[in-house]
Amino acid sequence: MRTFFFSINLLVSFNLSFSQSIKLELSKKNKVPTNIILMIADGAGLSQITASMYKNENNLNLEDFDVVGLQKTHSVNSLITDSAASGTAMACGVKTLNGAIGMDTESKPYESILKICEKKGYNSGMIVTSSIVHATPASFYANVSSRAKYNEIAYQLSKSEVDFFIGGGEKYFTRRNDKRNLIYEMKDWEFVNSLDQFDSSTSKKVGYFISYEEPLSLIQGRKPLLDIGLNSILKKLNSRNKPFFLLVEGSQIDWGGHDNDLEYLTSEYIEFDRAIGVALKFVDENPNTLLIVTADHETGGLGITSSKVEKLNSKVKFSTKGHTASMVPVFSIGIGSKEFSGIYDNTEIFNKMILQVK
Ligand code: MG
Ligand code: ZN
Repeated sequence: MRTFFFSINLLVSFNLSFSQSIKLELSKKNKVPTNIILMIADGAGLSQITASMYKNENNLNLEDFDVVGLQKTHSVNSLITDSAASGTAMACGVKTLNGAIGMDTESKPYESILKICEKKGYNSGMIVTSSIVHATPASFYANVSSRAKYNEIAYQLSKSEVDFFIGGGEKYFTRRNDKRNLIYEMKDWEFVNSLDQFDSSTSKKVGYFISYEEPLSLIQGRKPLLDIGLNSILKKLNSRNKPFFLLVEGSQIDWGGHDNDLEYLTSEYIEFDRAIGVALKFVDENPNTLLIVTADHETGGLGITSSKVEKLNSKVKFSTKGHTASMVPVFSIGIGSKEFSGIYDNTEIFNKMILQVK
């Protein structure tokens, strides 16, 4: 009787459907494994988020999160990390040298959260707005001494356990130094040419290259992808009746920072925030999910120096064309999210996620 009243309470207070509240109760008792969605806004510190929020009429989906923390992003050899060392810290739980992917300072390879999840029977996916072999996604499936070894990284993706991906960089698979065509070699995979084809595919593994080289920026004409693509990949993962690990990256916020281009970085962040909206809706419908939204470092040393409040029009100054050492925020919601409050090293992102992997 007591349990009955508790469930009714849950239904009323959180406005959950009956099946949702059952899922939540079961997942709290660890009967339903936790899905993990990690969203990385490359190069987005607090000023990038703030400028994007005002540009988006003082409103971001990010404001709906329960738990906020801060992570220290330094690598082994620099207070200012690159995306390889910070990606490796979050993916594998180890601090390393700038440029290294999935290995420590002694070139010892580490298993990523994605790989560990796959070994436990999870499915996995990645959706990014750079090439799929770029440093951030590569940290989740590759082990290489240098992020620049794109041909080797593509080869390691072809041999990995990843089930679904959407991103750019087809040429690293088809026009290679070793003359191999990895797409022919990836027999388990279906490669599609549109999101519609991605949605309707019934293949076990599906890849969608959105570009031959690096994808265009939104202001150069890339079609918005991250929110609808995330919706597609979540539908696929959720239809498999297995838990999953999913990486989402807003890759080009960083590139806007390197260019000291406010329009570039805020347009990319606002697209990323729309994807956050999709992920939040998924968590709402699937409470056995942990959602983490963070960055790998700040890019541009961005400061908002003045703003007309009625126009929400930020005037900014960049202090560098590179990255900075500022801590970056971590937002989380869902099962295990409480672990992510406080201030900690970027390697703790891995340690806190792995707590949920059963
Ligand atoms: Mg990146
Ligand atoms: Zn960068």
